Amino acid sequence: MTLHRVARFTDVSENRGLEVRIDDSKILLLKVGDQLRAYQGECPHAGAPLAEGALCNGRLTCPWHKAQFRIEDGGLCEPPALDSLKRYPLEVRDGEVWAGDQPLQDAHTPPADDERTFVIVGAGAAGTAAASALREKGFGGRVLLIDREAGAGYDRTVLSKFVIAGEMPTEEVPSLRDDDFYREQRIERINAEVMSLDAINRTLRLTDGQSLQYDAALLATGGTPKPLELPGANLPQVFVLRSRAHAQQILDSAKPGQRAVIIGDSFIAMESASSLRQYGLDVTVLARQPVPFAKQFGETIGKAILALHEANGVVLRTDGEATQIEGTNKVEAVLLDNGQRLSADLVLVGIGVTPATAPFADLPQEKDHSLRVDGGMRVTDGLWAAGDIATFPLNGQPRRIEHWRLAQQQARIAAANMLGGDEHYLDVPYFWTWHFGKNYDYLGHAEAWDEVEFKGDPFKPPFIGLFGKNGVVTAVVACEEERTMAMLAERMKQPLPVDEAWRMIRD
Ligand code: FAD
Repeated sequence: MTLHRVARFTDVSENRGLEVRIDDSKILLLKVGDQLRAYQGECPHAGAPLAEGALCNGRLTCPWHKAQFRIEDGGLCEPPALDSLKRYPLEVRDGEVWAGDQPLQDAHTPPADDERTFVIVGAGAAGTAAASALREKGFGGRVLLIDREAGAGYDRTVLSKFVIAGEMPTEEVPSLRDDDFYREQRIERINAEVMSLDAINRTLRLTDGQSLQYDAALLATGGTPKPLELPGANLPQVFVLRSRAHAQQILDSAKPGQRAVIIGDSFIAMESASSLRQYGLDVTVLARQPVPFAKQFGETIGKAILALHEANGVVLRTDGEATQIEGTNKVEAVLLDNGQRLSADLVLVGIGVTPATAPFADLPQEKDHSLRVDGGMRVTDGLWAAGDIATFPLNGQPRRIEHWRLAQQQARIAAANMLGGDEHYLDVPYFWTWHFGKNYDYLGHAEAWDEVEFKGDPFKPPFIGLFGKNGVVTAVVACEEERTMAMLAERMKQPLPVDEAWRMIRD
């Protein structure tokens, strides 16, 4: 390892990281009190430049998907990153900063000193985050990670954004962890489907007849796309999109120049509209709402996103609902209840998901089939749930929220509590959505607001829209305002007065 002179001490400011390079390695210098630290320059999640992130309350927040790390030691605080930052050796001599060209080695696997077996059902966002967190938090016992999908544990958020746009082959969908990680961390992956659960006897049954005993279990089976219940819905070109296999089926069928009808105006439906359009298909969306996302983002931003879709050739229709998919061996048209017939080569159904809790029929379930958990994500003794299947208390209200980062946060909380901790969700829900090359960030969970104000114009990003209720920020939507959103991700953990937020945004 060689030290390289990379900056002067005075080049690094109090409130912003500085990116320096040694050959091809990007290194981030951060000021911690009167000292400096050197960390990897890119977020371990998706490679965002961390120098563009925000420093606040002793944490560095990633500008892209809001992973958080302790400034002091680079330790992981919040996902979607699943690893702490790699630290580089650093010395300051006569006001000059010298950094090493190799990161310090701090990988550790807890010794196998625990007799217990923890089982995780579902290796998606929540399940994989929980398996990682159990080891990170020192659990040395057996960890069994079960998923019915071979090769599970990948980033499904890219499916609707890049894969069906033809920009990322399914084999290149990023895995959440690589094979070496599972091996080194002794995480046993089982490719099997869980059929039932006996929570009293702490036993899971698999569809192949095997039974598994556990000391603690986390259920993280996610959502199942709601099927279309119409004549013709079983034709081969009627698709849903949840898994890599679904994305591959869509790609195997879709050809530029074809006509796609998308049923639904969910985030996945609209992201798919953008992607299929970019892939060269004619796209019509059959929506229930005239303005997509108005409920979550308000009318103005919803209209701006609709305008972006329309400018790119997507047609959104609200004048009729699908009553039948026509065709003998293949999709030919979608019939609407107003008598119209839309010619189609493929249909994509994006009308939401149902929590995948059928194997847990013996547990009490909410009306939507989710599992109610307490603030620590616990269902009952020895059993926890996280992600899309969990209804959890958010600001005192039971909520089920389908966000990637939140599923992973819940999983980390569950992992800590499976180990005897007492952690609760104290953060701000965050998600992102991608349309025609524009990324929209959402912080908060507002069902109602009494004021909304903008910096910039939602029709011409960059912009920030601030939603307030009783003078306190309840949600923020933004496009191309990454650093400010990273700062808000931290600041909104405490009630943030709207005035103060505006002062921060304008600074
Ligand atoms: P999942 O990630 O779905 O994982 C559940 C796993 O359980 C699956 O691998 C499944 O195979 C397995 N499983 C289910 N039943 C069984 C069983 N009986 N036995 C064994 N295994 C089982 N959120 C965002 O915040 N931002 C986005 O941009 C975004 N984009 C998305 C794009 C798409 C196409 C989709 C489908 C979702 C997107 N989401 C996004 C939502 C986000 O992916 C989910 O909220 C998140 O994946 C939920 O995590 P989870 O662990 O609960 O479920």
